Amino acid sequence: MIKKIEHLGIAVKDLESSNQLFEKLLGVAPYKSEAVEREGVITSFFQVGESKIELLAASRSDSPIGKFLEKNKEGIHHIAFDVDDIWEEINRLKTLDFVLLSDEPKPGADGKQIVFLHPKSSNGVLIELCQDKK
Ligand code: ZN
Repeated sequence: MIKKIEHLGIAVKDLESSNQLFEKLLGVAPYKSEAVEREGVITSFFQVGESKIELLAASRSDSPIGKFLEKNKEGIHHIAFDVDDIWEEINRLKTLDFVLLSDEPKPGADGKQIVFLHPKSSNGVLIELCQDKK
């Protein structure tokens, strides 16, 4: 079951200046910053009520975020939904013909198991499903 919007991912070129900007905007400092080396990304997270904002900057220009920033401007990159059983959702969405970017969940930032849906099957929106690691 999809429970809520867990976070919005925003692609940024410069994490330092974007951290400062979102700290001013939201009135809170990021509660964590984390590199996911395998994905070539550095993230920082801001708590906003029950949801979060995830800033994503590239640590390598050939990483998915690096390529995104080459093709697009900075801005909203993905919407992440919190799910209670990621395998159940993967199977449910596959039978409904959604295209997943991987066949199984992988470790993401902020202690999550994550999987992405291809934007071509979801109105051009990159969607992340995430579940807290148990
Ligand atoms: Zn995310």
